[in-house]
Amino acid sequence: MGEAKRLVTQRMVKLRMYPTAQQDCALATQGHAARTLWNVLHEWYTFHAPHRWPSLKQADEAIRQARREIEWLSALPAQACQQVLKQYAQAWRNCWSGSHGRPHFHPRARTRLSVDAPQASALKVGRLNHKWGELNLPLVGRVRFRASRELPGLSRAAPEGRITGARVVREADGWHIVFRCEFTGAPSAPGSHHGPATGIDRGVAVPLATSDPDHPYIQHSPWLHPKEAERLRRLERKANRQQRATRPGQPVSRRRQRTYGQIAELHAREKRRRADWQHKTTTMLTNRYGLIGVERLRVSAMTASARGTADHPGKGVAQKAGLNRAIRREGWSRLQEMLEYKSRERGGVLVPVPAFNTSLRCSACGQVDARNRKSQAVFVCTNPECGYGPVNADVNSAYNIKTDAIRTTSWPRGLASLAALGSRVDGRSVPAWRRRRPRRWLRPNRQPNPYGTA
Ligand SMILES: [Zn+2]
Repeated sequence: MGEAKRLVTQRMVKLRMYPTAQQDCALATQGHAARTLWNVLHEWYTFHAPHRWPSLKQADEAIRQARREIEWLSALPAQACQQVLKQYAQAWRNCWSGSHGRPHFHPRARTRLSVDAPQASALKVGRLNHKWGELNLPLVGRVRFRASRELPGLSRAAPEGRITGARVVREADGWHIVFRCEFTGAPSAPGSHHGPATGIDRGVAVPLATSDPDHPYIQHSPWLHPKEAERLRRLERKANRQQRATRPGQPVSRRRQRTYGQIAELHAREKRRRADWQHKTTTMLTNRYGLIGVERLRVSAMTASARGTADHPGKGVAQKAGLNRAIRREGWSRLQEMLEYKSRERGGVLVPVPAFNTSLRCSACGQVDARNRKSQAVFVCTNPECGYGPVNADVNSAYNIKTDAIRTTSWPRGLASLAALGSRVDGRSVPAWRRRRPRRWLRPNRQPNPYGTA
């Protein structure tokens, strides 16, 4: 009675784990046991299909009996075994719902090892100091992890909530522990964020351009240092050479496997740095702005190949492939997801607007003209009455996205922001009526300014 409603958010917290050499061995054994159990289950179910499938109860009993009799399976904790069965059943449900393909065999060389530890009470997570933490893993022992992020319920400063389970995964750059967490807090009402509005344009030359004159560009250094990029190129050439030296039918040599491992490690480093930048940037943006407008981009359509068909070969296939790689490297859809949930948590709002002519439209007078773009990077308005520019083309788009976002939303402070838009970055003032009634933009005649700003 009288208790404020609590908001429960489920989120994963992934931290790097540093097992000792013996623990590393034990974890790898468990990971391969889990993978093999999956494969055995897959064999069993696909052998019976489609006439008579074993029930989950039958499968569970078979696993229990096998754990008593088979040595390699007894290395995997009972809880983790049940989790493999659960995941296998879920894989079929996903397949039938149409969201995923059929479950398949997990080959040794191409499977990310993972072991589940679903019982949170058995984990006994603790902090050693401000840098390190420790947890219990069944049949492995106490393992250290880098406490680079706050876990709920561990200290007084930690966010409210609890850990509900964990999962250990082996990536190319080592073991990680993924905690399943429930964060509890008072819900922020939508629109309770009092920050200003902004538009964000995502580009390839500049990762993010905003309509905020104080921070027009949000940049990052390349994900890999020049020396690391050079090493990656060398390793890729080496893998290629090793592949060419292999006769057809010959297995992949240990040396080639090692090269693949080194390549994967560099890719993992790139991925980690990108995720770090994305988290920091989206946290900064959602803390600062109450309304964020973004272009509604369909990344999968944007990164479609330009190859065409055999009868109608496409133009500029290699350039398009390069652009596609650049778009995918930026991870735009992930960025938008982060902006979405982080805005919601803080009481802000993310507004995707149609990406229709935002890069060709003048943000001052609204004229749409392909000649406005002097080059890929520079925007100059060709309307003789306006003459806005030269400005960075991405910043111009960001202004358009901001106005579109405010117009399309029922954001409570939308109109106030529109009036505030009257004063521009470069000192020129734009009458607010031009922003409120887009169709009038096409007529160059002067209108009385209802807001009294020049
Ligand atoms: Zn103009």
